[in-house]
Amino acid sequence: MLAILHPNTSLESEAYRHTLDFLENLPGVSIRIHEVQGVSQRLTEIYLLGDTKPVDENEIAALPAVERVVRISEDYRILGRHHDTMRQNGFTYNGVTFDQHNLNVFAGLCAVDVPEHVETMMKALQAHGQQCTRMGAYKPRTNPYSFQGHGKGCLPWVFEKAGKYGLKVIAMEITHECHIEEIDECLEKLGRPTGVMLQVGTRNTQNFELLKAIGRQRTYPVLLKRGFGITLNESLNAAEYLASEGNANVIFCLRGMKTEAGQPHRNMVDFAHVPVVKRLTRMPVCVDPSHSVGTRAGAPDGILDVMHTTAQGVIAGANMVLVDFHPQPEKALVDGPQALLMEELPAYLEDIQLCHDTWKKRQQIYNRQHPRQEPHAK
Ligand code: PEP
Ligand code: MN
Repeated sequence: MLAILHPNTSLESEAYRHTLDFLENLPGVSIRIHEVQGVSQRLTEIYLLGDTKPVDENEIAALPAVERVVRISEDYRILGRHHDTMRQNGFTYNGVTFDQHNLNVFAGLCAVDVPEHVETMMKALQAHGQQCTRMGAYKPRTNPYSFQGHGKGCLPWVFEKAGKYGLKVIAMEITHECHIEEIDECLEKLGRPTGVMLQVGTRNTQNFELLKAIGRQRTYPVLLKRGFGITLNESLNAAEYLASEGNANVIFCLRGMKTEAGQPHRNMVDFAHVPVVKRLTRMPVCVDPSHSVGTRAGAPDGILDVMHTTAQGVIAGANMVLVDFHPQPEKALVDGPQALLMEELPAYLEDIQLCHDTWKKRQQIYNRQHPRQEPHAK
């Protein structure tokens, strides 16, 4: 059970003390307090853990500091939606807001290679009003002899350039917990010219020790990729690992499932799960069309499959797009064949905006027909 307090309830107030005193004395129940800092208000949520069956919901709801009570299931205790469409979702990091309503595009290099390519990419992003990018420094590779990424050596110049071009958030995969410290030390030394969203790759979705280490820090938000060969439920539980350790600023990324049935795409595109993740959890949902599709193949309509799948995800309400671009894909050290070209950026961004606006209009159509209903849980 979860007691959501009135927004901005003072922890010094009589109402708060009285409420806490009552909850702390419920037999067989322990409490855990969770603070959610939104853009304009602070929300306090109190989890009642243990045997809550005998607890009278109405009695809790009547406590002076309590706004409402939500019965929560065991699944995704912190990140779950638990039938409550009103529950706050999302967070703001380094001035950029991530929630289930808005959209941020992270176009950039799959792997950082040379400063000229990074600079060309970032310059183009700034010219098109973008605040975010993707830059891989630590690359998990199938073949141990393949390029493994420049690692911490490239961080200073990547972060400096991001600052120079006004980029606020870089999605960067980490494969070991020591990378958090490497990133943090470097950003600190440079005076934090930019921010980092720690990306957990699909090969590490169930690396529980890595998840726990990332969850223990609250400085950096997390982009968790769905595991490519496990169920959605298992991947959502992986996200909950992060939250259970203390970091609930998590974005969930669909990136296709590994199966021969997906061919000729690299993976089976799974963006039909965008609304599913949004109704089961409060996480913003990202789509990665590049790693889903894996090629630059296109349809006779002149639109590449990467662009079509992006549109499919965004029109269904995706909140973030993670996509590979490269100024010279033939020279890219990782995933060149799936990269979009710099000259494709403006049209691609225009298409994404069109789809996001269309998603909003679609909501109006359906909400007009059937006033908003509680979504089904599963
Ligand atoms: C990536 O985004 O660079 C990547 C390696 O993706 P995934 O973990 O989804 O394969
Ligand atoms: Mn890649």
